[in-house]
Amino acid sequence: MSFAELGLSEKVQQAVATAGYTQPTPIQAQAIPHVLARRDVLGVAQTGTGKTAAFTLPMLTLLESGRARARMPRTLILEPTRELAAQVEDNFDKYGINHKLSVALLIGGVSFGDQDAKITRGVDVLIATPGRLLDHFERGKLLLTGVELLVIDEADRMLDMGFIPDIERIVKLVPFTRQTLFFSATMPPEIQRLADAFLHNPIKVEVSRPASTASTITQRLIATGREDYEQRETLRDLIRNATDLQNAIIFCNRKRDVAVLHRSLQKHGFSVVALHGDMDQHARMAALDSFRSGDTPLLVASDVAARGLDIPAVSHVFNYDVPHHAEDYVHRIGRTGRAGRTGFAFTLVGPGDEKSLAAIEKLIGQPIEWEGPTLAERPASEARPARGRGRKEERQRGGRRGGGRGEVREEAQHAPREERAPQREERAPQREERAPQRAHEGREKKAGRDRSRHEEAEAPVIGLGDHVPAFLLRPVAIKKAK
Ligand code: AMP
Repeated sequence: MSFAELGLSEKVQQAVATAGYTQPTPIQAQAIPHVLARRDVLGVAQTGTGKTAAFTLPMLTLLESGRARARMPRTLILEPTRELAAQVEDNFDKYGINHKLSVALLIGGVSFGDQDAKITRGVDVLIATPGRLLDHFERGKLLLTGVELLVIDEADRMLDMGFIPDIERIVKLVPFTRQTLFFSATMPPEIQRLADAFLHNPIKVEVSRPASTASTITQRLIATGREDYEQRETLRDLIRNATDLQNAIIFCNRKRDVAVLHRSLQKHGFSVVALHGDMDQHARMAALDSFRSGDTPLLVASDVAARGLDIPAVSHVFNYDVPHHAEDYVHRIGRTGRAGRTGFAFTLVGPGDEKSLAAIEKLIGQPIEWEGPTLAERPASEARPARGRGRKEERQRGGRRGGGRGEVREEAQHAPREERAPQREERAPQREERAPQRAHEGREKKAGRDRSRHEEAEAPVIGLGDHVPAFLLRPVAIKKAK
């Protein structure tokens, strides 16, 4: 199948050729003719499948006839995150080189002014996140009654992010007679309900998950300790010992962990950026650009923040946590091993993760191999009974552990600092040697200070630790016995 057979316009075909694409991907081959025939389409596909071009290319062709009217966008694309919205805009730039279409982006963190002016002049394509679109609408600057085609992208992510009520409101504001394209990576019942409500007699197009196709990804499980600091240490060792690591995404389940892990990795000398929902737009774009360009080889991200981002050629994916939803695992590891390249996906597993892990293995239809000891083989005392149990609780329990091999190590960690010092001295040079990405040269002093602070933060301290209060060091006059 070639692009010429899909019914795309000459201008679009030229742009596709300029982009260097010779063959449509399966979702493009299946969806494009139906979009051009003005049918509603339900696409079950995720990022990496060429899904964005599956709707941008036929949209460009359809938009060649007709003109935009003031304040009345002709087409509307809803995206769950700002980055995805920006990425779709990039696609219009890339495939729309031969067109003179007006494309506007309505996303949080960008000033209203410019976009307002554009919309007032009239836009062919409006790309928006739901909240921002409604903000504009409520300010009376926008009319949605001219929308001929509506795209709802990443619908299951919209659901996760709580955007469904907004989407339902927006759908009521666009004409009933519009054409609708609805994309979701998964089809849970809530999403199916929405698809049934929004689409009229749709063509269903489904493409296989990357997990079932990307046999080029080496997947491994790594048993880790129960404490956050152990988890971080396991991750650092993994990164340092990884073979052929070019760049990596480290996924966390919670955005709070993204921020903590980012700081921790920085303190340990890694060159790393973070992406999570609490960052402002400028910081998110800067982080992403730095990672995309290769300036920063490591990116810590949450699923929501990273969803759908087009980041080519990631050599490694590290799952700092086992994702709660099996589909997220598939999305995460789909970031590596793309287009026939080899890739590695490592997942840190602790006790309490067994159920999530079983769900993943069921979904991908195969067990994942352990690298090193399995969770069951890991000494019980080192295992975490549940996520989130922290050092505070340990300290309250006096840091005591029962008998067994693993506990000797644990006890060593809990021993007063003087006793632990030699062990740390032995380890320190090794760490320095292995650290592949020292953020800056010549910050030894600060790094040293950071490291000691960090170790304090990571290892439970007994009593006063190595701190001797000044009053204990004061010379004491001892009265002579008469
Ligand atoms: P998407 O699934 O839309 O995020 O696209 C994933 C990547 O595939 C993007 O980098 C696209 O530029 C690229 N791509 C889209 N269509 C094709 C195609 N027909 N052939 C090769 N690469 C493509």
